Amino acid sequence: MKESYDVLVVGAGPAGSAAARKCVGEGLKTLLVEKHKLPRRKACSGIIANKSYNYVLENFGPIPEDAHGKPYYNLGMAFHFPSVGTVFGKMECYAPYVWRDKFDYFLAKKSGADLEDQTRFISAKENGDKVEVTLAQRKDTVKVDARYVIGADGANSHVIRNIAPEAYEGIPWAFAIQKYYEGKIDADNRFLYGFLVRGMGPFPWLNLKDDQIIVGLASPLEEKWEPKFELLLNYLKKNFGLEIKRELATEGCLANLMTPLNRFFPGRGRVLIAGEAMGLMHQGDEGISCALASGGIAGEAVIRGVKGEDALAVYKRLVKPEMEIALDQFNPFRIIESSSSFSSPRRPKMLVGFSLREKARLMRDAWDFVKNELLAVGGIGSAVLKNTLRRQILRKYRIPAAD
Ligand SMILES: Cc1cc2nc3c(=O)[nH]c(=O)nc-3n(C[C@H](O)[C@H](O)[C@H](O)COP(=O)(O)OP(=O)(O)OC[C@H]3O[C@@H](n4cnc5c(N)ncnc54)[C@H](O)[C@@H]3O)c2cc1C
Repeated sequence: MKESYDVLVVGAGPAGSAAARKCVGEGLKTLLVEKHKLPRRKACSGIIANKSYNYVLENFGPIPEDAHGKPYYNLGMAFHFPSVGTVFGKMECYAPYVWRDKFDYFLAKKSGADLEDQTRFISAKENGDKVEVTLAQRKDTVKVDARYVIGADGANSHVIRNIAPEAYEGIPWAFAIQKYYEGKIDADNRFLYGFLVRGMGPFPWLNLKDDQIIVGLASPLEEKWEPKFELLLNYLKKNFGLEIKRELATEGCLANLMTPLNRFFPGRGRVLIAGEAMGLMHQGDEGISCALASGGIAGEAVIRGVKGEDALAVYKRLVKPEMEIALDQFNPFRIIESSSSFSSPRRPKMLVGFSLREKARLMRDAWDFVKNELLAVGGIGSAVLKNTLRRQILRKYRIPAAD
């Protein structure tokens, strides 16, 4: 590690690696730091949406074979309704399954930046045209200067907590947990299952990868997740014949709920924030595509900053469409109008073969779930309504963070 860089990127996830790759590509002296030892696991289903896949192919090259999981592709979502059963939304898209430890490590190495793992961001202080950054590398404290910092350190960003702690005021948090099991289950391994069943949090899910059964849910941080998880396991045992032989692994992480609240945070001064840290997330917990896109845009903004433009102003302008796409994910009209982030050339025909009565029961289940599990989380219902009305009436969102 040197003492001085053009740009220091915090976090070797998709956003950080995309930012680093962009900067290295323009010849900037770039340092990418990651607090964990690499490769590191990340709680994720590992479904690479079309947009992510294309971004990676274009900027990093083909995903290495050993990063792929089996089955090779995810075919879409299977929504389970308690009173009707499972409805399969088959997408006509290329959405490979990956293991995030290998996938993210591939991106980080391919970025070409100086890569330092087990190196944690502690603090940043602007001094003239530089940012003085303090890092903890294993047991040592290291000081590094950079012309710009890109914070891409995930949902619970320590870069934000350090430079602008007020950005997190009033944000509701969720805890996402998923467990891996060896065993048996009567489910189609090509689909990610989402359960619209009350009592298990706003997003209970199931998928299978390399014959491992992966069960997870997200729960508001102030509520206990354990009873909900128990309920989900029992539901799967009763309705999907789940038999657990042994537990293989557990992954958990915090998730901020900034997107539906329209509370993005793109940065301050010479510190830009990208990916989940800035509040970008799509429906169904798809966040890799916007992490890659915003990371690349942050890199572009820094490149222009080095050439004399106001990097933060450029970033806000260029990243605004990503914020709009993220808001669309929570706008019922936009969900109906456009395809989802796992974009398919055609909308999946999910309800073919269902009678009118079944469709009505299905809608009732869906509304019951959305009202009680999703919209009930701190302020989300009213924020979604406000954003939706403004978009539908004025044809555009008002995004305070981008103005
Ligand atoms: C259960 C679950 C399932 C998901 N499934 C999918 C899916 O199938 N497809 C999809 O597209 N998205 C999925 N997502 C979302 C996706 O995982 C995230 O949106 C994406 O990883 C965000 O990328 P990022 O680069 O912004 O942050 P991250 O991938 O979280 O990377 C941030 C990095 O910063 C590091 N870091 C944190 N603090 C510091 C520090 N102080 N110093 C140095 N480094 C630090 C972290 O260790 C981490 O490596 C899922 C999320 C969850 C929780």
